[in-house]
Amino acid sequence: MKAAPFEYSRPADIDEACALLGGDEGARIIAGGQTLVPMMAMRLSRPTRLIDVSRISALSYIREEDGHLAIGAATRQCVVENDPIVATRMPLLAAVMPWIGHAATRARGTVGGSLANADPAAELALVAVTLDATLTYREAGRNGDIPASEFFIGPTITALPMAACLMEVRFPIWRDGHIGVGFHEVSARRSDFAFVSAAAQVTVDEDGICRRIAIGVGAVTDVPIRLERVEQELSGNRPDAARLRPAIEGALADVDVTADLHASAPYRRRVAATLALRAITDALASAKQRGPDAC
Ligand SMILES: Cc1cc2nc3c(=O)[nH]c(=O)nc-3n(C[C@H](O)[C@H](O)[C@H](O)COP(=O)(O)OP(=O)(O)OC[C@H]3O[C@@H](n4cnc5c(N)ncnc54)[C@H](O)[C@@H]3O)c2cc1C
Repeated sequence: MKAAPFEYSRPADIDEACALLGGDEGARIIAGGQTLVPMMAMRLSRPTRLIDVSRISALSYIREEDGHLAIGAATRQCVVENDPIVATRMPLLAAVMPWIGHAATRARGTVGGSLANADPAAELALVAVTLDATLTYREAGRNGDIPASEFFIGPTITALPMAACLMEVRFPIWRDGHIGVGFHEVSARRSDFAFVSAAAQVTVDEDGICRRIAIGVGAVTDVPIRLERVEQELSGNRPDAARLRPAIEGALADVDVTADLHASAPYRRRVAATLALRAITDALASAKQRGPDAC
């Protein structure tokens, strides 16, 4: 099929993009087009106007500032994947990038497009929730911030106001202790959307005590979730492998897990527990190998 007719605008800056967006209820932002274009081709989405933000240079950057790694919304995923600052400061983000779609989709797809699209299986959404990222948008000449924990509301539904353009995502940089990360996902084919995914970031001190831990699970519910009970149990303690799996299973027991054509709820719950365990185990092992100056 072909897309329904639409107008096309290429604004020079973000305020022009917001003005165009605010002036037409049917208008949609297009960034990399990796999700929106197929949706339009199938006529599942029929925007009256596309507002192309992919060439607004002020939306494309990766920089370290005030203890955060800030990434502009129109930054392409392939740029993040190969960025040396991301590799050293944000190893969990670096670890998930190769898992997002394919090299060809990452060459066009943007960080902001993935976050705004809010697929429950999106790796970037999982990392944003796991690392307590903050998303900044612009609307009608003013900026607003939304914590990742409140940004994702449901499949392809976010807290972004209708006429807002996502500008930036900021990830806090952890500096306390030896940092380690782990990421695992299961999908039908490598780089397809995951049925289940799990991400973990830890810091351990010289005595092997877990000082800080964040564990997130993706694709098991409508939005990525944190396993906070496991985080509380591990934080401040020396990790005990025997207690880890029961703790993870306990944390997942109350979760209302998604069932669909690809995976039943019991399968997803079981795989989520296994992947979370592997992610934490990998994170703890890599924390022991990395010094504090490595992050
Ligand atoms: C074959 C294939 C496999 C894929 N596999 C994966 C995968 O495994 N994991 C994964 O996470 N993704 C996957 N994707 C999706 C891919 O990552 C997309 O790049 C991403 O979802 C959307 O980014 P985009 O820049 O292309 O956004 P677009 O398609 O341009 O836009 C997507 C949505 O976001 C909105 N939007 C975009 N930018 C902004 C902004 N700055 N402010 C407000 N709204 C905005 C658009 O209006 C639209 O609703 C896959 C895609 C394909 C085609």
